Amino acid sequence: MSDTRPRRDVRRTLPARKRIALIAHDGKKEEMLEWAERWRDTLARHQLIGTGTTARRIASQLGLEVEPLMSGPLGGDQQIGARIAEQALDLLVFFWDPFAPQPHDPDVKALLRLAALWNVPVACNPASADFLLSSPWLDRDFEMTIPDAGSWISQRTG
Ligand code: PGA
Repeated sequence: MSDTRPRRDVRRTLPARKRIALIAHDGKKEEMLEWAERWRDTLARHQLIGTGTTARRIASQLGLEVEPLMSGPLGGDQQIGARIAEQALDLLVFFWDPFAPQPHDPDVKALLRLAALWNVPVACNPASADFLLSSPWLDRDFEMTIPDAGSWISQRTG
């Protein structure tokens, strides 16, 4: 089988004001709200988006501005995946429920795959999200590498 991985990496700079996606499965929504409340002032300095219910609850309960996408089971995870592929997202905080099977499990897998592919920092629980938001890079530009899509395309098209 041929290796379809991009051959080179290129640089990408995450901006000082990060675009942060927030997603919590139903069994994790309370944990997400508690976590977001602790980090409210920090989160307020950044640009937030979220899947429908998560976004609406954080906005209404904490007074934060969160761009609501579709609810997760209706395509919200895929919308966030698209932002990652377009380099329009910088951090992903995704409290997925390890106990509850989801009707949109394939979408969840696809989202995590894109985050891994595009080197997007991901937190899956409050402790990892604490580490992410307390990073010295949160409020500064951050240089990182991503796959070179140009080389991948030329490799595929010859
Ligand atoms: P929700 O979606 O924020 O609309 O509940 C989250 C999910 O289940 O992926």
